[in-house]
Parts: sequence; C-alpha cells; structure tokens
Amino acid sequence: MNDKQPLQQAYSAHSFRETGHALVELLATHLERSAGQSYDRANPYTEPEPTLSFWEEDWKTAQLAGQSNDPMGLFQSVLDQSVHLHDPRYMGHQVSPPLPLAALSGLMSDMLNNGMAVYEMGAAASAIEQVVITEIGRQAGYDDDCGGVLTSGGSLGNLTALLAARRHSATSDVWMEGNTRPMALMVSEEAHYCVDRAVRLMGWGENGIIKVPVNERHEMDTTQLEPLYNQAILKGIEVVAVVGSACTTAMGAFDNLEAIADFCHNKQLWFHVDGAHGAALLFSKLHRTPLKGIERADSIVLDFHKMLLIPTITTAVLFRHKRHSFSVFAQQASYLWENDGDKEWYNLGKRTFECTKLMLSLKVYSVMRTYGLSLWEQYVNQVMANTQLFTHMLEEAPDFELARRPKVNIVCFRYKGSGVSGVGDMNAMQAFIRKKLLHHSPFYIVQTQVQGVLWLRVTLTNSQTNQAVFEALLETIHTWGESWLQDKEVTQGDL
Ligand SMILES: *Cc1c(COP(=O)(O)O)cnc(C)c1O
Repeated sequence: MNDKQPLQQAYSAHSFRETGHALVELLATHLERSAGQSYDRANPYTEPEPTLSFWEEDWKTAQLAGQSNDPMGLFQSVLDQSVHLHDPRYMGHQVSPPLPLAALSGLMSDMLNNGMAVYEMGAAASAIEQVVITEIGRQAGYDDDCGGVLTSGGSLGNLTALLAARRHSATSDVWMEGNTRPMALMVSEEAHYCVDRAVRLMGWGENGIIKVPVNERHEMDTTQLEPLYNQAILKGIEVVAVVGSACTTAMGAFDNLEAIADFCHNKQLWFHVDGAHGAALLFSKLHRTPLKGIERADSIVLDFHKMLLIPTITTAVLFRHKRHSFSVFAQQASYLWENDGDKEWYNLGKRTFECTKLMLSLKVYSVMRTYGLSLWEQYVNQVMANTQLFTHMLEEAPDFELARRPKVNIVCFRYKGSGVSGVGDMNAMQAFIRKKLLHHSPFYIVQTQVQGVLWLRVTLTNSQTNQAVFEALLETIHTWGESWLQDKEVTQGDL
C-alpha cells in the first residue's frame, strides 16, 4: 500500500473493489464449507484469556508492520474464531443464519451510512421502513391504522412499547412529572429479563413488576391475573399493562394471548406482546395457532434476527394504532400528536430511542421484495418440521427426557441415562455434557435453568439441520452422559 497517502488510499475505489471481491470470495467459501459441515466444529470455541492474548499480539505485530497490513489476514482470523451459524450443527442461541442477500444489504447500509434520524438524511430507507412496518402489521392481523418503527433489538423494542403503554394507560403524565405514584405491569415469571429491566428503567422499582406464575406447560397461569391485580390495587399500585410472552426465551412457551387480551379489555390495560422470537410464526399458516389473539394487542415486538433470517439486530415495534408510536418520545403532551402525527411519519428519530440508526429496513425489504413472504413461510415450516422430528426422536429414546412438546423451534431436554436420581446429580450431569459439547464436539448447543432444573437446549434455527445431525448429537450426548455416570460410580466406590 502507498504509505505516503494513507487517507486517500483508504478511500480508494480500486482497493475497495479488490478487498470487497476477496471478502465476498472468503465468505462464499465459508458458506459452502459451513453448509457442507467441513469445519471441525460449528463453534470453534476458545477460552477468553488465550483469545485476548491472540488479539493483543496481533495488535503489536500490526503496529510493527505499519501500513502494510493485509485486511484479509484479519478477516480470516475473525472467521476462524467465530461461530458458524450456517453450519447445520449450529443449534445454539436463537440468532438465525442470515440470508446472504440480507448481509449484502447490511454492507450497503454501512457504506451509504444514511443516519435516518431525519427524513432528509435517508429518504429511501425511511419510506421503505414504513412499507415494511405496514406489511408486518397486516400479517399480525392489524388494520390500516397500524404503525410502528424498526429499532435495534427486542430489548429496546420492548422498552419502547412499554413507554407507549405508560403514556397511554397511566393516569398521570410520568414523562412530564416523573413518577408520582407506584405503577406496575404484569408478566409471566419466565419472561425475558429485558421486561424486568424496562420496568426498572421506567423507575418503577422491584414492585413495578408483578410476576405471574406459570402452569406446568411454562405458560402464564392466567387465572392468577385477577387476584394478583386485586392485590396490587389494594397496595395502592396502579397496574398499567400486561405483557404476554410469545414465546418465552428459555422454554419457548406461548402465553394464552386471548385470555390476556380479555383481561386487559376488562380492566382497560395496555396489552403488549413480546413476540421477539415467536411472532415469526405469523408467516406460517400451519404453525401460527399459538399466536391466536395477537391481533388484539396494543403493541407487538418482533425480532427479524431470530426466526426471520435477517442479520442482527433488526426489530419491529408494531402498534395497533399508529398514533401511539408518535407519543412515546414526544416532549409535548400526546394529544398534540394525535392530530398531526401522521404528517410526520417520515422523521423517524422522533419515534425511536436511537437518534442515528442503521438502514435496518433495507435488510428486511430486500428479502421480502426478492423472495416474497413465502420464503419465511417455507423457512418456518422447515424448522418446525425439524423440531417435530427431533422431538419425536427424544420421545422414542428411553435415556432422554423432553421438557415439553415445543410449539416453536426451541427444544429443552436432558439426558437421564439409567441410574441417576436427584436434581443435583441430574443438573451436574447436564452441565458436564454441555461443557464437553462446547469444547470437544462439532455441535453447538446451550443450556438453560428453569425452576432449578438444568436443561440442554437447542434452537433449530438452521433449516439445514437434519436427522443425521440429530442422531450424531444424541449419540455424542449419550457417550458423555455415560462417561459421567461411570466416573461417579468410581468416585463413590472409592469412598
Ligand atoms: C431474544 C428475546 C428478547 C431480546 O431481544 P434482543 O433482540 O436480543 O434484544 C426479548 N424477548 C424475548 C422473548 C426474546 O426471545
């Protein structure tokens, strides 16, 4: 590289083209290798300390080399140390293997860098966002009065929707006056922790989250809503909203949205659905039943990066009535917005926590426009078929136990072996198996603890995961499980 003019060199169209082609070539080969399972491991996990040492060393060497560093060497190292989501043996967290087209749209967004806080700083992406939101709203069963925004993640999306809930349903204007009386919302005890965080960020404290117990299927026990609500009222707490989980993160359980909608209707409460993961079922006629009642929600959060194949982090916040989207961050009283809110749909920064944001809509729209909504339907149907197959295999295997029949692509299970009893031993065995899998196997799966029980957990987010992968996974788990059991016998024999 020319070391006289580093700034000019950095902006050179020629080297962009050259590096760009090389990078696409690297990633295309990576895609082939991942899909063909030719890597040793779906997650080439290394411990934090050696990884840090590697990069500290890399930086030292880079400084010595000056400006003759090759970015392709860097890209290769990052690839070598990153989780390969496109590998069918990736069954870990909920993040989906992104569609290459969506990733390329991300590159375009990064290069154009239109900030979108105000319309003139991103006309196309702002208008496209409107088209995306309206279409997704329709899919959820809303009418043309719906609206919303794209934002960075389900956590921020839920906070945004809950701020709207407070603005609309609370009897005092907290935005202007601060919290003058105790408020709360009600949510399943197994909901995602970001709801708890949102409550605390809103200044409601620990009593601001009323955790509704779950039934044996890990769904909110909606018969508890009425008594818990009455208790809160007796304590002088104003209940503002109920949050339905569709689905919970750990177990993939869907709350009964119709029952929650009825309750909210009776009590005049805001009904929010955290559909970060499961709202994607909207796109499948076969599998959308657990979302029945979602169209009655005042607001819905949906993550495109979970079950809809878009790169992190792209989230829709949908409102049944678009005026609510305008009042969330409005400095003036919301009634001002109710009249002329529609006029300002294009200045998105007024409606999101972010000021500047990525051109999120491009990633989603390029996929909708190129492949149609039927691509999502096909994807959801495929991963659900995989889920049913894996569930069936677990039910047939005498040494495995399934936590619950899944309604979505999250499956929790554990290895029983033949001779283990007691929660402590069972948990220790699962932790041992999961650690072995992470360090010494081609598979990547995770674990979750619910009500004191440790489960192995997979999210079947890669549509290419198949029966051969499941068989090999169960075989590997069986081997590690038996080795734990034998070690335990040896240890006890020593005593
Ligand atoms: C993943 C998830 C979230 C958090 O979403 P992010 O996009 O990771 O911020 C919230 N709620 C549920 C139910 C989730 O599954």
